Amino acid sequence: MRRSVRRCFEEGGYVYATRAAEIAGRSGIEPVARLASNENPFPPPPVVLDAAILALRGVNRYPPEQQCSLLDALKRHHGDYHFAAGAGMDGVIETVIRVLAEPGERVVVATPTFSFYGVAAGAQGADVVQVKRAADFSVDPDAFTRAMEGAPLGFICSPNNPTGNATPPENIARILEEIDGVLFLDNAYVDFSDLDYRTLMRDHDNLIIGRTMSKIYALAGLRIGYAFLPEWLVGPYGKGATPFAVSTVAAAAAEAALGEREWSEAYLDHVRTWRGRYTHEVGHRVYPSQANFVLVDVAPLRSDEVTEALAARGVVVRSCRSFPDLEDHYIRVSIGDEWENERFISEINRL
Ligand SMILES: *Cc1c(COP(=O)(O)O)cnc(C)c1O
Repeated sequence: MRRSVRRCFEEGGYVYATRAAEIAGRSGIEPVARLASNENPFPPPPVVLDAAILALRGVNRYPPEQQCSLLDALKRHHGDYHFAAGAGMDGVIETVIRVLAEPGERVVVATPTFSFYGVAAGAQGADVVQVKRAADFSVDPDAFTRAMEGAPLGFICSPNNPTGNATPPENIARILEEIDGVLFLDNAYVDFSDLDYRTLMRDHDNLIIGRTMSKIYALAGLRIGYAFLPEWLVGPYGKGATPFAVSTVAAAAAEAALGEREWSEAYLDHVRTWRGRYTHEVGHRVYPSQANFVLVDVAPLRSDEVTEALAARGVVVRSCRSFPDLEDHYIRVSIGDEWENERFISEINRL
């Protein structure tokens, strides 16, 4: 009998911030400041919780095959585009790779960035090609376009995780005009920026825009994300998707959350205020950010060293050591609740 796993799973896989969480847990400091995963620090508003609780009463049944009510809500929110929802944007990314990339084909990723594109593409048998961003972490449209030659799919994250900078929509448009394949533009943090890429969907049928309900909408634990799809991809996406990937509860909560504009605006104000305070009060270089986190250059200290020292003082941040094509002296710090942010500032400045 065979007990071996595929080589890509002997090591590798998504890297969680577990070590820092363990150190913080052992520190005896309660509560711990959780600034490693870019979550919304505030629980969802009552309307959203009520919708989720109501939906729970129907969970003896499978969810509708096409989450029509959620898809309609997305149209009301964004306009007349085509959408697909999944178990987090991660679920959508996995399906998109499955549908577009044959094993052995190249999938292009602008790095340093979110690691799951490469993990998921590799697991699908694709050959992952990394295009390194410039020193200021901008994406060179020409370099990206060249790497895309013959490739069915590429990934650009904007605003980018973990660097916080965005790629201007006109550069994305340039890439879309030049490439044959499809670009997946990860807009997980776009709500925190002043940019809007949605209208690019109108002029380009090789663009997918990924969105998540995990960040600004505070639903990370429910696992729901979605994408704007070009029309031709809607049918194939449905064939490649995991059946019933979006739970009834997640869909109901997401639909309610989309309507809570005032609530999300208040969180956005909080994020803006604290981006400013991090920039001015942290005694290291803080990169400008269009997201709900910042990248901090801790040189001459090292990523892991700082992450572990902060964890021992009750602050969990993300060491960026595991991000490909990033040097070993960065940490990524989310904007949390006031007390969490204050503790981070005072502890990092004391290291
Ligand atoms: C958080 C995040 C996602 C995934 O979010 P889900 O929780 O899977 O919806 C996708 N892309 C980036 C860049 C992220 O930071």
